[in-house]
Amino acid sequence: MKYLFLAIRTTICCIIWAVVILQTDSLPLPNQLGPNHSADNLNNHEDNLVLSARVSEHESGRDFSLNLSRWGVGKLVSASLFPPSAATISSSNKIAYLTFDDGPSKSTSRILDILEENGVKATFFVTGKTSDYSKQMLHQIVDQGHTLGNHTYSHDYNRIYASVGAFKADVDRLNRLLEETVGVKPNILRYPGGSNNHLSWRSGGRHIMSSITREMSALGYQYFDWNVSSTDAAAVTQSKDAIVESVKGNSSGKKQIIVLMHDMDVKTTTVEALPEIIAYLKQERYQFDVLGKDSFTFQFLRQGSS
Ligand SMILES: [Zn+2]
Repeated sequence: MKYLFLAIRTTICCIIWAVVILQTDSLPLPNQLGPNHSADNLNNHEDNLVLSARVSEHESGRDFSLNLSRWGVGKLVSASLFPPSAATISSSNKIAYLTFDDGPSKSTSRILDILEENGVKATFFVTGKTSDYSKQMLHQIVDQGHTLGNHTYSHDYNRIYASVGAFKADVDRLNRLLEETVGVKPNILRYPGGSNNHLSWRSGGRHIMSSITREMSALGYQYFDWNVSSTDAAAVTQSKDAIVESVKGNSSGKKQIIVLMHDMDVKTTTVEALPEIIAYLKQERYQFDVLGKDSFTFQFLRQGSS
C-alpha cells in the first residue's frame, strides 16, 4: 500500500513538472512579440509573464507556491525543492518606475506634492508646452529630483509618424525647449501610443515604428513602454478604484514594473489614486526609482524586427 501511494505521488509530480516545463518553455519574451501585438492584447501575454515570474521566484526559494490553477491542479506546495542561494536573493529587489505621460498639466503640481510627501521619485514623459506655469512645473520636476523624458513636442500622430525625419524633428524640438528651459536634454523616450501602436500606420505605413525605433536607437535614445497599465487612459476620467486595482493586478508577480499613468487636466482620479498606489507598492516592498538610459526597460516592439 505504501509503495502504491509513493508510485502515484511520483507520477503526479512528474506530470505537473512536465506541464510546467512545457508551458514556460513556450512563453514568448516581451520583445519577441511581433509588431502586430498591440498594447491592448498585451494583457493576455502578461498573464504568461506572471506565471513565469512566479516560477522564477519559486526557484529562488523565496516563494514556494506555484499557482497551477490554470490546469485545474490547484496549489502545489514544495518548500524543500529549491533552497535559496545568496545570488538569487540579492537580485530579488523589487523596483517600481512610476511614469507620467503628456504633462505638464494642471495635475502636475498635485502629483509633485504627493511624490514629495511620500519620498518617491518618478519619470515624466512630457510634451511641448510653453506657458509660464508649464515651465515652472518643468523646473519643479527637475529640482525635486525627478526625471524628464521626451514624449515628442506635438504628440500629433499624423505629424510625428509621417516619417523618420518628422519624428526626429519633433523630438529635437522638444529637447531644445527642455534644454533652454531647465538645462536638461533627455535621451529617454516614450512613443505616443507605445512603440507598437497601429495609428502610426495611417501616416507612415506599416513599418514606420520599426524604422523610427531603429533610427532613434542609433542616435543614442532609449525608449520605454510599460508593463503595468493604470488604465487611466481607458476612459476620459477613469474611476479611482479601477486605477488602483489595475496597478495592483498588473504588478502582481513582477519584480520590475514600469507603471503607465497620465499627467493631464482631466485625469483627476489618477492624482486621487496615486497615494493609494504608492502605499500599496511600498507594502509590496517595491523601491522607487527613475528611468535612465541604462535602467530596466520594457519594449513592446523589438528594435528593427520588421
Ligand atoms: Zn501620450
